Amino acid sequence: MSTTQPDLASLERAELETALDARGQKRFHARQIFQWIYRRGVTDVAAMTDLSLELRTILADEFVITTPEIVTRERSLDGTEKFLLRLADGRQIEAVFIPDTPAMTFCLSTQVGCAMACAFCLTGKMGLVRNLTAGEIASQVRVLASALDLRDRKFNIVLMGMGEPLHNYDETMRALRILNDEHGFAMSPRRMTLSTVGVLPALERMAREPLMPNLAISLHAPTDTTRGQLVPLNRKYGIADIVAACKRFPLAKRSRITFEYVLLAGMNDSPDDARKLAKLLADVKSKVNLIPLNAAPGIPFERPSDSAVDRFAGILAERGLVVSVRKSRGRDIRAACGQLIVEGQQQSAGQRLASALQ
Ligand code: SAH
Repeated sequence: MSTTQPDLASLERAELETALDARGQKRFHARQIFQWIYRRGVTDVAAMTDLSLELRTILADEFVITTPEIVTRERSLDGTEKFLLRLADGRQIEAVFIPDTPAMTFCLSTQVGCAMACAFCLTGKMGLVRNLTAGEIASQVRVLASALDLRDRKFNIVLMGMGEPLHNYDETMRALRILNDEHGFAMSPRRMTLSTVGVLPALERMAREPLMPNLAISLHAPTDTTRGQLVPLNRKYGIADIVAACKRFPLAKRSRITFEYVLLAGMNDSPDDARKLAKLLADVKSKVNLIPLNAAPGIPFERPSDSAVDRFAGILAERGLVVSVRKSRGRDIRAACGQLIVEGQQQSAGQRLASALQ
């Protein structure tokens, strides 16, 4: 990847306007360029025929447009499709298309790997390889929408693929602004959901963002003792602080914060856990999304029985919480929550050093 040439895929429209202006070009061409890239899926500047030859030459010589390449595409029996994508530096990430949820949804990655090391998540086993750029995050939509021929349809995005979005704050927010641009995909923030383990300072920063996606918090336990074993970051930012930040979070009308709760047999699925959870969330505008564990080799937990899941959901519902149980999609192709992992990535220099020192 060139370090000197700006990546058109990572620029917000206002930044592109400034870059054009600096090269003696009219700012409004940024609109046309956005329409080509996002609405029409054209990344070959030579084909952007309503731009002058001079401008096309500038774009070709002084900018790059990076687009992840599809390495493999697997289709699940339920219609879910998992895409393995190769980035410009050869690293790989996964993105997932989930049809009829009831809308269509793209599940996007924000990092190669993840530093959070949640005990039940396969991506966490990879460690963090690197952050994605805004272009690499937003381009997953471009690539999937083109491959699936959905460019003109309405779809949702969830930042629930590989990585912790609030651990890559600036690039994630920039990607959301690019996807929101009226001359690009023009996605409403109401169709975007950011899921986080609760990186508290970043959560507080997000509360002041002009563009606010829906918020989902990966909670997974009602007490710090249990959550600390599942989500290492909880030892730094505990449940009380996260829930307090959620109570202060500015919510759009009629909207609620989703609390994701992966159910692990014998670990966090008892009736007592359910009662504690109900109490914890009693005065938060919340909905609880229960996710029975998607088991995988190397994950030291088991999925609870359906009756344990029903019992847990029942206790929450009785206490007035809005509850749903996430239907697992794409389990047969390992595209379900927490099953995204790219094996055989080259390690970064830092990772090699870390493993040598262990
Ligand atoms: N880092 C963010 C974004 C990833 S979202 C976050 O943690 O919220 C992925 C969701 O899938 C999270 O709620 C995560 O806890 C859940 N998940 C991870 N591993 C899982 C597994 N093995 N089974 C079911 N859900 C899992």
